[in-house]
Amino acid sequence: MTLAAGIDVGGTKCLGVVIDVDSDIGSEHDILREVRYPTPHASELVDALAVLAAELGEVETLSVGVPGLITLSGVMRASPNIPGSVDVAVGPDLSKRLGRPIHVDNDGNAAALAEWRYGAGRGARNMWMVTLGTGIGGGHVLNGVVQRGVNGFAGEIGHTVVNPDGPRCTCGRKGCWEVYASGRGLGMLASGEPGESVIERSRRGDADAITVLEAYSRWVAIGLSNLTNVSDPDVIVIGGGVSEAADVIMPMVKRWFVETLYSPEQRQHPDLRVAQLGEHAGAIGAALLPRFTVAS
Ligand SMILES: [Zn+2]
Repeated sequence: MTLAAGIDVGGTKCLGVVIDVDSDIGSEHDILREVRYPTPHASELVDALAVLAAELGEVETLSVGVPGLITLSGVMRASPNIPGSVDVAVGPDLSKRLGRPIHVDNDGNAAALAEWRYGAGRGARNMWMVTLGTGIGGGHVLNGVVQRGVNGFAGEIGHTVVNPDGPRCTCGRKGCWEVYASGRGLGMLASGEPGESVIERSRRGDADAITVLEAYSRWVAIGLSNLTNVSDPDVIVIGGGVSEAADVIMPMVKRWFVETLYSPEQRQHPDLRVAQLGEHAGAIGAALLPRFTVAS
């Protein structure tokens, strides 16, 4: 048994878990301890993580997944959803405070690892995880290793540009994929109506709502087909809040995916799957980081 703690820093809460990383079952019952804490201003983040780590107890490894651009040494360069998060040395400061090495990576990379090891991506050789939440997160697991890039900034698929003259993104540029294909994007395409409401109307057969969801699903599919052109994956796992309406959205996304794919009849299509680990994916994946990240 190897006890590993993972903490997922979200926009509103930090969720910490302890799992046995030798276990290959990974159901919710395998979460041995779980602790929650409200996400503070970035200037108090290291203090909050130290408190959480103490509550999680004795473990072999301690790791943290944080949103935004995270360097290989664990410095948060910028994170749009956490106030004050420019150049916060999460890894180095927490490591100094607790007197132990701390692994820090992007939350999308962590979630991808969790789905690959225990969830919808099991058995995949070349897997992308795409999280359709308020924004869009991504993570790429290739041959069992999370792909971090030269600086740690790989997988920022939400900010690939699909329309250079499109609406402004939170990153300051225009027409990023997440402007259209995130939960926020769904709201924009519905002229401000909440996504849940559009989905509810579509379930009742409302033609206008179905038109909005078709447009939304097309944007999702365009991004997935771009990912497929870049890296030829065998599995793409779709997670995040939007995936809770997978029964409505996935059939549309799958149809548009075939429409938008390059040479669809001459290739094997990646399997589009719905994430299985829900809100625990980021924390479980953080706990897995030391075992499935190549030392840099
Ligand atoms: Zn952007």
